[in-house]
Amino acid sequence: AQPMLGEGEPQAVALGYKEDATAVDKAKFAKYQDGQRCDNCQLYTPKDAKAGACSVFPGKLVTAAGWCNLWVKKA
Ligand code: SF4
Repeated sequence: AQPMLGEGEPQAVALGYKEDATAVDKAKFAKYQDGQRCDNCQLYTPKDAKAGACSVFPGKLVTAAGWCNLWVKKA
């Protein structure tokens, strides 16, 4: 199984990734809007109800409820 992306990994930190989108540092990542989550991001491919793949973080899974600064509205 693919490992979960850790919030402390350098690229995750750089992009403000949080497993819980509501925990995003809104002062630092002002682009964040309430309601944005990995599972409504264009770059997310669900694996199950709680996690999925993200093209920004190959080889890792991100949480459905997560967020990072590259969030793109699902088309
Ligand atoms: Fe989540 Fe989208 Fe960021 Fe990937 S790019 S971590 S799916 S918000």
